[in-house]
Amino acid sequence: MSDLVIRRPDDWHLHLRDGAMLEGVIGDTSRHFARAIIMPNLVPPVVTTADADAYRERIVKAIPGGDRFEPLMTLYLTEHTEADDVARGKESGLITAVKLYPAGATTNSHGGVRDLDKVMPVLERMAKIGLPLCVHGEVTTPEVDIFDREAVFIETVLDPLRQRLPELKVTMEHVTTKDGIDYIRSSSGNLAGSITTHHLIINRNAILVGGIKPHYYCLPVAKRESHRLALRAAATSGDARFFLGTDSAPHVDPLKECACGCAGIYTSINTMSCLAHVFEEEGALDRLEAFASLNGPAWYGLAPNEETIRLIKRAEPVTFPAKIETGAGPVTVFDPMFPLYWDVA
Ligand SMILES: [Zn+2]
Repeated sequence: MSDLVIRRPDDWHLHLRDGAMLEGVIGDTSRHFARAIIMPNLVPPVVTTADADAYRERIVKAIPGGDRFEPLMTLYLTEHTEADDVARGKESGLITAVKLYPAGATTNSHGGVRDLDKVMPVLERMAKIGLPLCVHGEVTTPEVDIFDREAVFIETVLDPLRQRLPELKVTMEHVTTKDGIDYIRSSSGNLAGSITTHHLIINRNAILVGGIKPHYYCLPVAKRESHRLALRAAATSGDARFFLGTDSAPHVDPLKECACGCAGIYTSINTMSCLAHVFEEEGALDRLEAFASLNGPAWYGLAPNEETIRLIKRAEPVTFPAKIETGAGPVTVFDPMFPLYWDVA
């Protein structure tokens, strides 16, 4: 197969940032994707529906002319979030999900939740009105090894929370371990997981072998090969509980290439080419549409996109820029370390 038409995809986990960076990156998403769930970890974070409304306006203004793209807004859950404000956001159609960052888990997450008891009234209201909780599923206690953060989170935070509030719909975002995949597969409902492009392609060797490679560093950090294979199996299985969330997360190069580099990988521009490559390798091109275009909307209660995109396998490799220039500075593009032949026509 060298020609594939699928429904236009959506990205169920995306960082667009703000200002000059937003303007520099949004076109790479809106070119291919119809919708994206927009992460709220700005400085300061998007905490209230008023914040989300203002951020949505800035995003809409930055969309290149001619592109049809709908940002799906989220709220950053804090211990001061008000249930009424969240409910109003859902009712007005502005808010698609609420995001839980354990304090300190990733970029700009220091305002996150330390004590789940303090946010239970909000979570209970969300369960009642059917608003999903998106979780960054990692514990941040210093005693826990960084490669074990996800597995420990499932055992000590996520599973107890889901037992306490089984009515709450939870998206485990950017699943990186076999533990996460197995946990989602074994659940009886109200649980799904997004998987990034890069976690299907790299394991932790990409970051650490032959010198430290900051552009492969992200959070959750890539794990060992057996985990990558479990992610591939889940993504290409057609199981409706798994869908694409790129977690494309731009940082300017000086903030990646330094003594304490930021976490994040920029994949918006070549995600569809990378995914077609991965799905072809797994003999699952016929399931790419489910992963990128159907399972996500079904989980979030939205209709799949009517429009389609066409992927064509070229005879010669498709080239992407090594970095894109934004008004905020250069951003290095994810290098999958193999040539890409699939192209969005
Ligand atoms: Zn993210």
